[in-house]
Amino acid sequence: MQRIGIIGGMSWESTQLYYRLINERVRAVKGGLSSAPLLIHSVDFAPVAALQAAGDWEGLTRLMVQAGLDLKAAGARSLAIATNTMHKMADEVAARTGLPLIHIADATAACVRAAGLTRVALLATRFTMEQAFYRDRLTAAGLSVLVPDAGDRAEIHRVIYEELCRGTVRDDSRATYARIIAGLKDRGAQAVILGCTEITMLVRPQDIEMPLFDTTAIHAAAIADQAIRDDLQ
Ligand code: GLU
Repeated sequence: MQRIGIIGGMSWESTQLYYRLINERVRAVKGGLSSAPLLIHSVDFAPVAALQAAGDWEGLTRLMVQAGLDLKAAGARSLAIATNTMHKMADEVAARTGLPLIHIADATAACVRAAGLTRVALLATRFTMEQAFYRDRLTAAGLSVLVPDAGDRAEIHRVIYEELCRGTVRDDSRATYARIIAGLKDRGAQAVILGCTEITMLVRPQDIEMPLFDTTAIHAAAIADQAIRDDLQ
């Protein structure tokens, strides 16, 4: 059996969405009682978030590589990291485990390109918006990427860690995100990438006036499609 290993728990609020979305898609395609053969390694997010805040990306890379190796030892034949931010070390995880990795930014860029769009706004953690690892991946796929200004990036980041990752969804935060997205539209964005796997809990398509690319749904669909392909082999 070809199991897909998912490194999740960052936060578990979004990992539970992945689990449902992956299995809904597998059931829709295969029918009956079909579901996806998965191994989910759900980490404790508190130390992960502390290492992120401290900028200890080497420590985080060791942690993610070990999670990937644990999943491989448990029988995973491919991997997915169920968060955008922790794709910072996706290449190391793939290289050190020797397993194919279903990359969230590649899957998202492919969807944006398939819609005929190229100029996107990116809403995400400060790490994902400000560091090169994610934006470069989108740029390499032919997209140009706009991010909010520093004050708005800080507020988006705060809402992710202080609210969404704790299961709190607030109308005033939704209004703040909508205001920021409208500003990015004025700057020329054709679409917005929800580049953090919890933002889908807050921002809905009806809240904004441009196409929305939800990385949680896109990545879950890519994982489900991999599970369906694996089953045919
Ligand atoms: N799940 C979020 C993301 O997609 C943020 C939490 C994390 O740092 O992993 O980036």
